[in-house]
Amino acid sequence: MPIKQRTSLLVLGLILMFSAALTGCAGDNEATPQPGQPQTEQGDGARADGEGLYIATSFSVLADIVQNIIGDRGQVEYVVPIGEEPHEYEPVPGDFRIISDADVFYVNGLDLEEWLEKIVSNVSETEIVPVSAGVTPIPLVGSEEETDPHAWLNPRHVITYVENITEDLIARDPQGEALYRQNAEQYIAQLEELDAWIEEQISQIPEKHRVIVLSENAFKYFGERYGFETEGIWEINSHEEGTPQQIARVVELISARQIPAVFVETTVDQRYMNRVAEEAGVRIAGEIYTDAVGPEGSGAETYIEMMKHNVNVFVEGLTP
Ligand SMILES: [Zn+2]
Repeated sequence: MPIKQRTSLLVLGLILMFSAALTGCAGDNEATPQPGQPQTEQGDGARADGEGLYIATSFSVLADIVQNIIGDRGQVEYVVPIGEEPHEYEPVPGDFRIISDADVFYVNGLDLEEWLEKIVSNVSETEIVPVSAGVTPIPLVGSEEETDPHAWLNPRHVITYVENITEDLIARDPQGEALYRQNAEQYIAQLEELDAWIEEQISQIPEKHRVIVLSENAFKYFGERYGFETEGIWEINSHEEGTPQQIARVVELISARQIPAVFVETTVDQRYMNRVAEEAGVRIAGEIYTDAVGPEGSGAETYIEMMKHNVNVFVEGLTP
């Protein structure tokens, strides 16, 4: 968690402790959540009664990962709708309620959720846990301070996410330990299988074509794992998008490197890449899921499915 957030939480905590002391109320911040007994009594909250842990996550990819571990023993929600990007999201009142009602709010961290400050100042008691803890960050190109948040695009990092989430769930609901560990083990086996499958698939792509060009340069962690160079019209969605200089740079790069195809994201305005493809005379080989899983019926409704879809599109686009 960035220091700024931790400070806000600390300040908030101190205010809460102070007000609890003033009113003589013990406060229930420290209470251990009891599965089956929702902590909040708000009748209009999104959580269902008697469902065990109620987990809020920042975006859909995390929700799917948590769902695989928690199974039927809890309820999982996500805040950023599918099809929207999670960098500069504007939380709506319903989001604050979901997060307030939750036993914990899982976020990616690595500075993905730039809107967390708004949540921290509006939601008092829910603990915010970054699930990417332990992943070695990759910096943004041209920046010494900013990190790239898209660690989930490397399935081996998702294994770290799973380990972090599993330990956190067990700490909140010790009676669920056996189930959480068993589910995590099975899911990690699937992630390892996915990792091996990706290696096998990309071996079809000639080495000189192993360059992924997207609107947002989001595949660095994937590139690091599987030996791809990655490029974007822009570096990250929260920066300026699609300036003439950015477009000219990528068009030139595609021509110079003779890159056979480029890709668009499901969560990004596609007009800029359309222009790049037209000017560079290359085709757009397909849509890629980066910052959200696919909608119902897309065949990419889960993290594993979205990664398989992405790899199939890369192979199709970059193999002659
Ligand atoms: Zn992104």
